[in-house]
Amino acid sequence: MRILVIEDEPDLLAGIVRALRDEDYAVDTAVEGVDGLFKAESWAYDAILLDIMLPGMDGWEILRRLRQTRKTPVLVLTARDAIRDRVRGLDGGADDYLTKPFDLAEMLARVRALIRRGAGKPLPRIELRGAEIDLGGRTVARAGETVPLTPREYALVEYLALHRGQVISRTELYDHLFGEDDDTMSNLLDVHVSNIRKKLGHDFIATRRGHGYCIE
Ligand code: CA
Repeated sequence: MRILVIEDEPDLLAGIVRALRDEDYAVDTAVEGVDGLFKAESWAYDAILLDIMLPGMDGWEILRRLRQTRKTPVLVLTARDAIRDRVRGLDGGADDYLTKPFDLAEMLARVRALIRRGAGKPLPRIELRGAEIDLGGRTVARAGETVPLTPREYALVEYLALHRGQVISRTELYDHLFGEDDDTMSNLLDVHVSNIRKKLGHDFIATRRGHGYCIE
């Protein structure tokens, strides 16, 4: 899952990014509004964390413009506990909000919920092909036993599971699983898929030649 954080306060940004990367999200950042909007419009993020008071362009304007083209889930970070800000954020197309200062564990829980709802799968567990995927604990179990997956393998399974039945192109997977700072190798995806099949069964992920991957 790939997340964009638009926040100009360096310490807060660093804390948010660290917490998200610890959960193995691919994270991009912007510290200024125009750059933030550009990135938000350029990539298909799974969620965006959006500060309101920003240099260049404020969060309200970013949200207004973004909603003309994209439905990316947005979590607004408001500077104070102002009901007017929350109402304005939700009316303006935000999906949720957090008031600063906030607890990073709560932020992570809200991000997980946003991603699930954005994929149209509001429940925190997905069962498919004999496996149970726990989106909160970020684990996959089979017959009650946890299957050891690397963070990247888990991220790949989670993305395909949230979009099950759809053929997902390699490009889309790279966009969602790797951040702007990640070094990617073209054959890495095949390696991950191969390892997942060894652990969860060869049929768990189907290959659609020339199109991408799919969990039926
Ligand atoms: Ca700010």
